[in-house]
Amino acid sequence: MTDTGTEKNKTYREALLWGEKKLAEAGIQEAGSDAWLLFSYVLKISRAQYYLKEKEEMPKKEDRWFRQLLEQRCQRIPLQQITGEQEFMGFPFQVNEHVLIPRQETELLVEEAVKRYSFGRILDLCTGSGCIMISTLKLLAKKGFPPLCGVGSDLSEEALKIARKNAGLLAQEEQEQKLSFTFVQGDLFEPVTGTFGMILSNPPYIKSSEIPHLMKEVREFEPMMALDGKEDGLYFYRKILSQASAYLETEGWLLVEIGYDQGEAVKELFLNAGFMEIEIRKDYAGLDRIVSGKWKGLKQ
Ligand code: GLN
Repeated sequence: MTDTGTEKNKTYREALLWGEKKLAEAGIQEAGSDAWLLFSYVLKISRAQYYLKEKEEMPKKEDRWFRQLLEQRCQRIPLQQITGEQEFMGFPFQVNEHVLIPRQETELLVEEAVKRYSFGRILDLCTGSGCIMISTLKLLAKKGFPPLCGVGSDLSEEALKIARKNAGLLAQEEQEQKLSFTFVQGDLFEPVTGTFGMILSNPPYIKSSEIPHLMKEVREFEPMMALDGKEDGLYFYRKILSQASAYLETEGWLLVEIGYDQGEAVKELFLNAGFMEIEIRKDYAGLDRIVSGKWKGLKQ
């Protein structure tokens, strides 16, 4: 009898190990953990439940589905695009190929925003999945702030669909009825009106010349427009800093995420635009990651 590895019913354990091997053979770095995440996604089981039935037969339907997902991962489709979800600040965000997958280092931007916020509406430029704005507002609501209003802008209508969906799914809890979200399509401030107590952004900041060196998962499957910061990677910071003061109330904050080597250049842009109390925060790898500054209303 020939065993093709697909016809005979495998046990749960055999199926998981087979998946791990497939991913490792395809050169996926985190083969073990990715195989488990896809496996548990298909079967909706925890590790503990798995150990209870690892020797039982894996149902054929789920085995087929698991193999389809492994196949996608072997082609380097990011795990989060396969499962459609990424956790950020402890909240489950929906993602697809139209939005940047929320990154752990971006959580620092939210932390710094929550620390500094004191009044007014919040604007998030290049909102993507909406992860920054939605989690900032949720955390501020938990801290007891009065009704909060967030505006997210993005050039991509497809991204805004996901942001709106996330806002609808994640701001359901009763005490959060006082959160209001508006998503507008356009280039940075272009579709935005009024003033804000805080502006946040994680704009595209990778130099165009570095894009070909990114991991295949990122370079081929994440939206290029969410990554490419043009020639020197600073294009969007220049645009944001040239207009931010017109949209900030006096004593309002601007916070942006930056690339590890952009701290000094972006700080300079904040200084030249007339911002005060400028700080660079490092991430847990010790790299410059967030630049923040206060607008004191002292234009140039
Ligand atoms: N604001 C979104 C995030 O941080 C998207 C950022 C982007 O598209 N550059 O995940």
